[in-house]
Amino acid sequence: MLHTGILRIETGIRHGSIVDSRRLRPDESDDARLSARAGDTGACHQPRECPRVTDPVLVYRGDELASYGFGDPHPFGLDRHDVFQQELELAELGDGVEYAMPRRAGVDELLLFHTADYIDKVSRMSFEGTGFLDEGDTPALPGIFDAASDVVGTTIASVDAIMGGQARRAFIPIAGLHHAGRGHAAGFCVFNDCGVAAEYLRKQYGVQRIAYVDIDAHHGDGMFYSFEDDPDLIFADIHEDGRFLYPGTGGVEETGKGRARGTKLNIPLPPGAGDGEFAKAWEQVEAYIDRAAPEFILFQCGADSLEGDPITHLRYTEEAHAHAATALCSLADKHCEGRVVGTGGGGYNRRNLARAWTRVVQSFVEAG
Ligand SMILES: [Zn+2]
Repeated sequence: MLHTGILRIETGIRHGSIVDSRRLRPDESDDARLSARAGDTGACHQPRECPRVTDPVLVYRGDELASYGFGDPHPFGLDRHDVFQQELELAELGDGVEYAMPRRAGVDELLLFHTADYIDKVSRMSFEGTGFLDEGDTPALPGIFDAASDVVGTTIASVDAIMGGQARRAFIPIAGLHHAGRGHAAGFCVFNDCGVAAEYLRKQYGVQRIAYVDIDAHHGDGMFYSFEDDPDLIFADIHEDGRFLYPGTGGVEETGKGRARGTKLNIPLPPGAGDGEFAKAWEQVEAYIDRAAPEFILFQCGADSLEGDPITHLRYTEEAHAHAATALCSLADKHCEGRVVGTGGGGYNRRNLARAWTRVVQSFVEAG
């Protein structure tokens, strides 16, 4: 169920319609390079006090992930993966980070969330390589089926790694494609990796109660409406008010349907909202997730909520992302053996996405 029609007709707003290409280049300034270092905390002789040595954060990287995107001048370009990885290396997190390889999802895995008709459509249009998978935001580029399947497979791989005890936290920069529904593409998102991961957790591991927390500037409509009547998918989303931004959904009154009423929390913020407004909203999210006591946390940390994004109007700094990441690790430690998967989501100002995602990984490392 999508509510984008009215917005699109009345205002012509689409996800990628407001693009300032001058702002799509990484900012060269390094005045605020992240200074904290995993190794700066001094000697640590007790394994339990030194988790970064024994329990690194898995960060997924590889050409397969980098290949998900739509090329210049589309805001979701193909450079986002590398821009982030370069910034992460500068943070020098040492043994706190362990790199892992992407993997491709099979059709059987895509079917856990998506409809067969839709998977067929993406496969066919990817082969043809022309047109759009939606109403104009998500091009059907040649090979997009494989690239989107790589994103899904990598998020599943992170779930396997965590459930298998190899790590407790993981981060996938090119993932968190939260606009894709069970039967449609939307807003640069072909397959919904978090949606598949939630269904996979249930089928493969019997994990039922899953928290999905989304701080991308855009409402995570693909996740919300796909699980709107699912009481075990705990949904919390802070985003720019849908009256001003795609997809136009996510009002406070949208709390879930039927038995799921009250299991979804939407907090829209006005354009221009910064770290202060975020922190206030985050208190609600934190209390909500704490009460829900999830068995696993999926975190969509879109960086398009930072000031200077070319297609949104929020004004956070990367400290909002660090704050959320740290808090979710604490909640995960309390409720679910520390299990958190972070996904990059949106973010179209390269400097912002590099810094925000690096702060998330750094916060995961520091949380132990
Ligand atoms: Zn977004």
